[in-house]
Amino acid sequence: MTAGYPERAAIPTINASPARLPMDLILTFHSLDTSGSVISYCPDQFRQVVEGLLEEGVALVSMDEMLKGKDPDNRPRALLTFDDGFRSVHEHALPLLAELGVPALLYVVTGWVGRTNRWPTQGADAPELDLMDWSQLRELQAAGFELGSHTVEHPHLAELTEENLERELASSKGQLEDELQQTVRHFSYPYGTYKPSTTVAVRKHYSTATTTDMRWLGASDDPLLLPRVDAYYLRGPERWAPIFGARTRTYLKGRAALRHIAGHLRR
Ligand SMILES: [Zn+2]
Repeated sequence: MTAGYPERAAIPTINASPARLPMDLILTFHSLDTSGSVISYCPDQFRQVVEGLLEEGVALVSMDEMLKGKDPDNRPRALLTFDDGFRSVHEHALPLLAELGVPALLYVVTGWVGRTNRWPTQGADAPELDLMDWSQLRELQAAGFELGSHTVEHPHLAELTEENLERELASSKGQLEDELQQTVRHFSYPYGTYKPSTTVAVRKHYSTATTTDMRWLGASDDPLLLPRVDAYYLRGPERWAPIFGARTRTYLKGRAALRHIAGHLRR
C-alpha cells in the first residue's frame, strides 16, 4: 500500500451500502472566472460540473425542494449556491442554468451591490472583482434564481454587538425585499462563522441558513445550520467525477478533516 492512499478495498462504494450513504449536497461557488484565485471557478469547468451532475442522474433542486424530504424517485440531489453576488455569475451561470432549467440560490451582500468585494474584512488572498447591480440581480431573479441575504457588510457575525448583528440581518433582508418585491427567507453566514447567539438571531429573520461546514446533508440537520461543500475542493472535475462517487466522498472527508485542523478558510 502506498503511503497516503487508502487501499482500494477500503473505499466505500455506493453499491456496498445504498441506504446509508448521504445523497444530498449543497455546493458553494463564488466567482466564475479563469484567474485561479481561491474564490474563482473556471466557467468551462462550472459547465462540466453542472452537466456532469445531470449526467450522473443528480436532481438539481431549489432550497425548498431540498428541505422537503428526500427525492420522490430516490435520486441524489444537489443545490447550487453562489456567495457574494459576483458579476461573473450573471455572465456565465445565468445563461447556462436558464438554458438547462436548473435552479440556484445566490446570496447578496446588500451594502456592496454594484461595487466590488473590497469590504473591510476581505482577506488579501481574494482578488478584487465586480459585483452585480440591482438590475442584474433582478435578471437572475426573473431567470429562476432565488436570492438570499449574505448580510449588508460581510462582517464576521460572531464579533458583532447584538445591535449590529440585528442590523446586518434585518437591513439586508429589508433591502432585498424592497428591491426584489419578494419575501427573502434564505441566509448565508459570511466566512461560515457564527456562535450560538448568532444562530438565535438569524432564526428570527430567516427560514434557512448555510454554513461552510463541509459535509453531505443529513436528515437531522438544523435548517439554520446547513452544511455546504465549497466547489473550491472540486476543481478539476475530470479528476473527481462522478461528484457523488466514492472517490469524491473519500476525498472530501479527508479535506474536511484537514480543514478542521487548520481552522476555517477566510472566505
Ligand atoms: Zn461571502
